[in-house]
Amino acid sequence: MTSKKYFTKTLLQFFSDSTITLPWRGFKPDPYKVLISETMLQQTQVSRVIEKFTEFIEAFPTIFEVASASNEQIIRFWNGLGYNSRALRLKKTCDAIVKDNNGVIPYSYNELRSLPGIGDYTASAIVCFAFRVPVVVLDVNVIRVFSRFFSPQVYTTDVINEKEIRESLVRMLPKEHSSEFFQAIMDVARLYCKKSSPNCNECPLSPKCKSNNKLVFKKVTKRLEPSYLGFPRRIWRGRVLKIVTEHYSISVDEIVQILEMSEHIDWITTIIHLLEKDGLIEFEKVNETVRIKS
Ligand code: SF4
Repeated sequence: MTSKKYFTKTLLQFFSDSTITLPWRGFKPDPYKVLISETMLQQTQVSRVIEKFTEFIEAFPTIFEVASASNEQIIRFWNGLGYNSRALRLKKTCDAIVKDNNGVIPYSYNELRSLPGIGDYTASAIVCFAFRVPVVVLDVNVIRVFSRFFSPQVYTTDVINEKEIRESLVRMLPKEHSSEFFQAIMDVARLYCKKSSPNCNECPLSPKCKSNNKLVFKKVTKRLEPSYLGFPRRIWRGRVLKIVTEHYSISVDEIVQILEMSEHIDWITTIIHLLEKDGLIEFEKVNETVRIKS
């Protein structure tokens, strides 16, 4: 059996034997649930998403509830997931679908891509997982597993060219089971083929994997995030945003008082400006207060 055939067969078998249940999965899951989960899963771990996804779906059972909610309500539910601009992107997408498509999520990749807030990954994931269209769903996890399996990598940070991977996947995609195929790769990436500590001994792909037990750990050199008083900037952003969502409108002084940061007003002002620049909040010039951008 060729490596490609082995890869596909093993992954589909792994998926069919798997007992993993995730609330947004199924043979043909609700496209709305796929849109929510895939947005939440960008930069947040599955275990954290499960809890927040369930809460979100209870509060906003359909796309219509998201469209009729305020930005403030959506951000409040997003609290704890981080990267709040995702929440506003999601809101914009839902608004557009309700306004222009009667709340029906399109099943064509091109139509999805033309919506505000939808990138290549989310469009492919919706089309593949919700509508079972055989398209390539490529994210960092798929790139990592594919690279390691098909070509001997030296360091844990090494991967092969994305274009090459995409072209190979187009050719080897199991047309009827592309949804299961990509979900299986993502499960293998999360459970075994982890970024810095792959567990090759337990991995179902190990018998034919070119990097099996060969990877040398290499620390990823991350761009250093600015921090203040020992906390990274994103934590400060989250703190300020949480306060703003809890008030209809609030002055900078009040935010500073709540945070007990009266000696650090410049830093809090910087954070407020950054949130404003990202379109999450807005200043009301008349009374100099801050509120969630409507
Ligand atoms: S055998 Fe190791 S390197 Fe290969 S896919 Fe599995 S976990 Fe990744």
